[in-house]
Amino acid sequence: GDFAEERETIVVGSGPGGYVAAIHAAELGQKVMIVERDEIGGVCLNVGCIPSKALINAGHRYQAMQADQFGITSTGATLDFTKTQAWKDNEVVKRLTSGVEMLLKKHKIEIVKGEVYLHDNHKLRVMSETSDSAAQSYQFDNLILATGSRPIEIPNFKFAGRVVDSTGGLNLKEVPKELVVIGGGYIGAELAGAYANLGAHVTILEGTPSILPNFEKDMVELVLKSLKEKGVAVITGAMAQKSEQTDHDVTVTYKVGDDEHTITADYCMVTVGRRPNTDEMGLEYTDVVIGQRGLIEVDQQGRTAAPNIFAIGDIVAGAALAHKSSFEGKVAAEAISGDASAAVDYLGMPAVCYTDPELATVGITKAEATEKGLHVKASKFPFAANGRAITLAETDGFVRLVSTDDGTLVGAQVAGPGASDLIAELTLAVNSGMNVEDIALTIHAHPTLAEATMEAADIALGMPTNI
Ligand code: FAD
Repeated sequence: GDFAEERETIVVGSGPGGYVAAIHAAELGQKVMIVERDEIGGVCLNVGCIPSKALINAGHRYQAMQADQFGITSTGATLDFTKTQAWKDNEVVKRLTSGVEMLLKKHKIEIVKGEVYLHDNHKLRVMSETSDSAAQSYQFDNLILATGSRPIEIPNFKFAGRVVDSTGGLNLKEVPKELVVIGGGYIGAELAGAYANLGAHVTILEGTPSILPNFEKDMVELVLKSLKEKGVAVITGAMAQKSEQTDHDVTVTYKVGDDEHTITADYCMVTVGRRPNTDEMGLEYTDVVIGQRGLIEVDQQGRTAAPNIFAIGDIVAGAALAHKSSFEGKVAAEAISGDASAAVDYLGMPAVCYTDPELATVGITKAEATEKGLHVKASKFPFAANGRAITLAETDGFVRLVSTDDGTLVGAQVAGPGASDLIAELTLAVNSGMNVEDIALTIHAHPTLAEATMEAADIALGMPTNI
């Protein structure tokens, strides 16, 4: 109706940005309401980070159970993918999303289901499918927008039937015999690897000269080698032209240079990027400024051009990653609660790709440092010389440290087993402005993969031990 209820702080979107901002604001004393039009947990928990990692894990287990290794002879493994999907949905996703809902309630955060449409800098409407009245208006002091992003569609590949986006790709009812993945960014590469491990024959079509453009060449080469071993065809410089569906398959036409090719597959998954959800929500009626690529312009606190409206996560510039969104959510909550010094700092912002092997980076690469005019050296320790990696029979990869002449760690890259966790120590070090000596002088338990980090620091100091 016309009557506007009053609220102190409203958060729009319950992904890793919104729900963390809501909890943090509540902890800082705000009265918080959170609005979600879809499922609590956003993309990350429902159709992103979490379900993808569940399928990746299932793929690894299935592969391991078919391998003859360590004197263990496999007697074969059978896959019931319906059960895999049920496990992913009910025991992984549901468990986490209901956990988030519980946490919101524990912090006395009001949860409203519906779609937000802004009226001006201080008023919004929530359209709800379930409530009797078409819309409820709310007046607010502070607003945190965390509406996330959605997959980009390309011409002639409308998401329908056998042409799916990442969400459809995560929810396939069976493992495709033949899968075409268009776009070799981290989402495409992760899911291509997962389905290959689950038994699919996969072809990746990538328009640019290389997959995983955000990672260094020697890291990407390890992934390419592994994809090749899985039988995945990676075709670069491939421009997808059109798709034609029948009841039981889809034919994808693509061009490499002037040559036209076709592949017929069970499914075609398009993962060419995501666009921010900043349209269709009435932002034009506020002072919020939308800049390039639909991203909202914000300052170091996430404050938009409307001083009481903040924006965080995939709708602002920077890497579209869950932990970035959560981090910005905390800063925005602090700023709203009166902490003038709260500010985002992306120095120690890690990025992880859950391919085989895992890739992880933090800070800057040697090339980026050189571009900035910094004189740095890169010190690389291979897992082939690490005892724990050898016991795991996973020796592909390395830890590399990038340090300045005075030893300050400005970046690090890890490719190999456990890279997603190993990057945490390096993130702390980069974030704290630590020196390679700090790492070298820290006792690392033996035998661990983390010793590779210490050994890379030894190399940086010119005192290598195990190499
Ligand atoms: P989102 O998680 O997108 O949440 C936004 C929420 O806002 C949604 O629930 C939406 O329904 C709601 N909403 C939008 N508009 C409105 C409105 N008008 N009214 C009410 N509600 C609204 N990141 C990682 O860091 N690690 C990973 O391993 C990783 N894997 C990924 C795998 C896949 C397949 C995908 C697709 C993404 C992955 N990501 C990963 C990216 C990560 O999911 C996003 O960066 C993250 O979810 C962004 O969080 P957010 O809070 O900004 O928005």
